[in-house]
Amino acid sequence: MPASFSDDLVSSLREETPGTQHVLHFNNAGASLPPQPVVDAQMHHIRREAEIGGYEAKEEAEEKLEDTYDAIATMLGCQEHEVALMQNATRAWDMAFYGFPFETGDRILISRAAYASNYIAALQVAEKTGASIEVIPSTEIGEVDVDALREMMDERVAMITLTHVPTNGGLVNPAAEVGAIARDWDVPYLLDACQSAGQMPLDVNDIGCTMLSATGRKYLRGPRGTGFLYVHEDWIERITPPLLDLHAATWTGPESYAIRPDAARFETFETYVGGMVGLGVAVRYALDLGLEAIFERLQPLAATLRTRLDALDGVTVHDTGTTQCGITTFSTDRMDAVDLKQKLRERRANVSVSSPPSTLLDATARNLPKMVRASVHYYNTADEIETFTDHLQKILHDAS
Ligand SMILES: *Cc1c(COP(=O)(O)O)cnc(C)c1O
Repeated sequence: MPASFSDDLVSSLREETPGTQHVLHFNNAGASLPPQPVVDAQMHHIRREAEIGGYEAKEEAEEKLEDTYDAIATMLGCQEHEVALMQNATRAWDMAFYGFPFETGDRILISRAAYASNYIAALQVAEKTGASIEVIPSTEIGEVDVDALREMMDERVAMITLTHVPTNGGLVNPAAEVGAIARDWDVPYLLDACQSAGQMPLDVNDIGCTMLSATGRKYLRGPRGTGFLYVHEDWIERITPPLLDLHAATWTGPESYAIRPDAARFETFETYVGGMVGLGVAVRYALDLGLEAIFERLQPLAATLRTRLDALDGVTVHDTGTTQCGITTFSTDRMDAVDLKQKLRERRANVSVSSPPSTLLDATARNLPKMVRASVHYYNTADEIETFTDHLQKILHDAS
């Protein structure tokens, strides 16, 4: 049975999260506080590397590493050979994107919420291949305009890419509706699930994406330096990794090599093994709580935060969308976002700043300033929200 987040459960989850004793952490969209079992798994592996050797420790951890693939495949509703373990979300996205055989005249459709790294990669690929990038419009409410996308489709569309949850706000894009269009046209669909992974259910069959990238450290509460890529089995061998090594391919003769047929072709031999073990523990931790339950816990928490922020003088909340998640963004006319973040930090409250260049299309369309991003997780509480807004009120009062 998935958890419903009773006060008792939240208390015990906080006890299992050492960071909650030290900070008020509303920077889960940056990097969540990891739970103790994730920390322990990494520490154990690092200790074993020191005691018996790095290669030997990896052999010893083989079953745990297998379980990382298994846990991710369970979360995504896919098969293990469709999962590649990566060092972050950007490289995961890149391996699929740069490896795709784009040709002159191909159209690449990209959402307005596109993350800077993805868009920069798309620009570079367009320059090299002669493909064009076209931005899918957003509705007035901020989400990707599914009807407009349907109108844009034709034979030349080579790929649809979508940011599920943008880095700069609480919006959740209707990923499955985009998936239905991609399926109708049999067009590959690359989903950036970096902010949604760990916040909400992420079944690739329900969503209908062909490829999906995510990171470990954000809402999944995994280690830094970890991420993963999913590629549907029908597409794995149609995507040639832009970089290869002896793990991704086999050297078969002086003039030849063979790229492996599974998603591990996108991986490298050398990785942060302890982190990959920790990533598996983090995904299991989320699965045990239930992603549906996690999302149901997060949404009202963030809604409460938005309501309280809205009530503060001089504060503007910038979140859009019909379905919203744990991320909240706001600005104030009293103070620069970077200074405000610093003031909050002095009070041991963690947030981050979303600057326009991280989501340039969206920031330009909505004329967004630098914003403070306060992102809550299930282990945050209503009390913390109150403390946070109290801090904010005092800081703003002192500034005026
Ligand atoms: C953080 C983020 C990324 C990049 O993730 P990395 O693990 O830092 O590469 C990509 N897309 C979105 C929407 C993000 O918020």
